[in-house]
Amino acid sequence: MHQRMANALSYGEFRIFYQPVVDLQSGHVVGLEALCRWPQRDDTWAPPETFISQAETSGFIVQLGDWVLRTAVDQVRQWQQRFGLDLLLAVNLSGRQFLHYNLIKSIEDALRSVQYHAKTLEFEITESVAMHNAEDSIGIMRQLKNLGITLALDDFGTGYSSLAYLKRFPIDKLKIDRTFVRDIPNDANDLAIVSAIIAMAHALGLKVQAEGVETEAQMEFLRDCGCELAQGYLFGRALPGDEFEELLIEQRGSARDRTA
Ligand code: C2E
Ligand code: MG
Ligand code: MG
Repeated sequence: MHQRMANALSYGEFRIFYQPVVDLQSGHVVGLEALCRWPQRDDTWAPPETFISQAETSGFIVQLGDWVLRTAVDQVRQWQQRFGLDLLLAVNLSGRQFLHYNLIKSIEDALRSVQYHAKTLEFEITESVAMHNAEDSIGIMRQLKNLGITLALDDFGTGYSSLAYLKRFPIDKLKIDRTFVRDIPNDANDLAIVSAIIAMAHALGLKVQAEGVETEAQMEFLRDCGCELAQGYLFGRALPGDEFEELLIEQRGSARDRTA
């Protein structure tokens, strides 16, 4: 598997799709999450959960993750210039990447290669990775923050949430896992959990982004609770670069119509 993935990377077979992140107050696309895709010979896509976890086990994720970062900053820098937007690019960092000795240097190289502004880059670290070795995590997070990068805790609520560590992590944002969003507005427990996470995050000075928003009712509940940002099929799936660009062109067109 490691060899197959290494070949796929050297033959340029991997793709990055971009999922829009929307500001719930304005309804505008303000960011995007880079998600890795691997097309197969039979015209199907390898499931990301599976190949990413295999890449994580074999250690190949370090190379793959570096390619994702370099490709995404190059692409998003072009969109930022073309559309005059400070789009925030979110990239997932796996456990192996997060703990790799060369992490900071490889990020600095990637940013320098296309003169990408660190303040428009966000790393998503899952709660379980961050909590696994929390003291070390705090040190690595500080180094990332020193570069000017934004940090988000991904899949929040599904790992071992230690509030004692949460308050010490130098993070900017919590991403509420889609399992809590899915049954809004029908499940009273989920309503309670989601509104409590949002209130807690705000009390800690963190922004909140909801994952997996698929319906208007979910969007309205989240917005009424003060959740700032969201992503999900309601706003758009992860799209290939050319389709994401069309979305930006459409958004620019409708902003012009409003001011005309
Ligand atoms: P994640 O970082 O939590 O990414 C969000 C996942 O939710 C994506 O799945 C996205 O397509 C999916 N999603 C977004 N909106 C909705 C929705 O409204 N409904 C539903 N049902 N799903 C939605 P995807 O692309 O299959 O990725 C799965 C996981 O694989 C990601 O979870 C992330 O942990 C990992 N992954 C993907 N690309 C990369 C990468 O480049 N590097 C690393 N380290 N991990 C990656
Ligand atoms: Mg993520
Ligand atoms: Mg997530």
